[in-house]
Amino acid sequence: MNSSKQGGIIIENNSSTTVEKIVSLAKRRGFVFQSSEIYGGLNGCWDYGPLGVELLKNIKEEWWKAMTYRDDVEGLDASILMHPRVWEASGHVENFSDPMIDCKKCKSRYRLDVLGDSFSEKKQIKAIESLKNKLNDKEDLHKKIDDIYANPGDENPFNLVLENDQLGVLLLEELNCPQCGNKNTFTEARKFNLMFKTFIGPVEDSGAVVYLRPETAQGIFVNFLNVQSASRLKLPFGIAQVGKAFRNEINTKNFLFRTREFEQMEMQYFVNPKEDTKWYNYWKEMRLEWFKSLGMTPSKLRYHDHPVDKLAHYAKDATDIEYEFPFGWGEIEGIHNRTDFDLGRHEEYSGKSLKYYDETVKEKYIPYIIETSAGASRSFMAFLIDAYYEEEVKGESRVVLKFNPRLAPIKAAIFPLVNKDGLPEIARKIEADLRKSLKVFYDDKGAVGRRYRRQDEAGTPYCITVDNQTLEDQTVTVRERDTMEQERVGIDQLAGNLLGKLHY
Ligand code: ATP
Repeated sequence: MNSSKQGGIIIENNSSTTVEKIVSLAKRRGFVFQSSEIYGGLNGCWDYGPLGVELLKNIKEEWWKAMTYRDDVEGLDASILMHPRVWEASGHVENFSDPMIDCKKCKSRYRLDVLGDSFSEKKQIKAIESLKNKLNDKEDLHKKIDDIYANPGDENPFNLVLENDQLGVLLLEELNCPQCGNKNTFTEARKFNLMFKTFIGPVEDSGAVVYLRPETAQGIFVNFLNVQSASRLKLPFGIAQVGKAFRNEINTKNFLFRTREFEQMEMQYFVNPKEDTKWYNYWKEMRLEWFKSLGMTPSKLRYHDHPVDKLAHYAKDATDIEYEFPFGWGEIEGIHNRTDFDLGRHEEYSGKSLKYYDETVKEKYIPYIIETSAGASRSFMAFLIDAYYEEEVKGESRVVLKFNPRLAPIKAAIFPLVNKDGLPEIARKIEADLRKSLKVFYDDKGAVGRRYRRQDEAGTPYCITVDNQTLEDQTVTVRERDTMEQERVGIDQLAGNLLGKLHY
């Protein structure tokens, strides 16, 4: 637990237990609910409540402004269902799969490539030792294990052994199912395609199969020339899209981190192949800055550059922007140099030219693509966790969400100090006035201190209180969420004052 003191406030940003606290706060305050909760819930799916939908909308809006309010990026909203050939061309039908195993006893299902993470380090070492004993004189296999452990890159070497064709099956025999505890009960690994299948039209046969898109990017690739010619764009230019994506993940976990339905914010930037590195570096920097500009703690953000031998076959460069979640570092956005792979494949599969005519060099070529691919829902979780603070103020504790005001679901709350003497009428008038431009909240229930605490938990940056002095001089108090400092502002100045502070 990290504690610090600022102006008499003891601040504790508790990074060891916040996921549980966040899930409970999210439900209590209406950020996120379990999907279909009254039926026992649907795994890997979540519903965004009144505060959550505002926060998510604000994140997407900030992204949209940052990415498309510029002269070289246009927006798109492609449909979720696409021609099935799209997913053949993209490689998803063939390759978008995870290796899956089942426990024959309790039927629990696991992803083989991350199974090791369910065991303590001690258990992993013990299992590797048993495996080596079992292999006794097979020196080549001993060497293989040693080589993997000597050079695991940034993977867990235990998982790499599990994924190895020769060693994986033998290591599985040494393991107990993390759920029921039985030993040697795993099936062989098989490929599990993560795309959700459905049927278009009334006949459910193989000719009618379509997929729920597992990423928004393909909608951009296939519309590349449509957008380019409609908007008369010249390279380099980008196409941005925000939308739902679906992946039938084998194991969902960590709240919104890995879900089966989620939202992505993707931008594909089309460049002359000779300029790919320049633009890759440019977007890499821009995207990290975006998270910082919205108040995410810089020390909890980092790049994870993919080593060359771990790159996808089509990628020339790739990095993840990672956030330090309470359960460890996790990707929130990927930046990739996808070369000419995607447009080349769509050209091949559709038979339509997707080449760009470059007037400057009088040449036709397939542009390279620099992709920035962020999860809106994963970013939502990172912003929520990053904003969460527990503080002790004059012996009392408060939970406060220190959102950047641009992301805060409610921008200001208005309270009449008491429900008499004409104060509610003035407060209602202020509310109606501010509501024209801001999401505001009116609260007249309970002691004013409790009303402040409720807004702290919702992350509301400003609370406005109408009191007896208002009757005399037409001023109200404006209390700032983080410092809890109060200033008096004239009612006629209020809207301008708040809009200025919120940077609108
Ligand atoms: P991971 O390795 O975590 O599965 P990925 O490398 O497959 O992620 P991409 O295909 O690059 O992810 O997707 C881009 C972004 O979409 C990710 O950075 C993440 O923010 C988001 N994302 C991907 N899968 C999920 C999911 N199952 N639930 C929530 N967000 C997701």
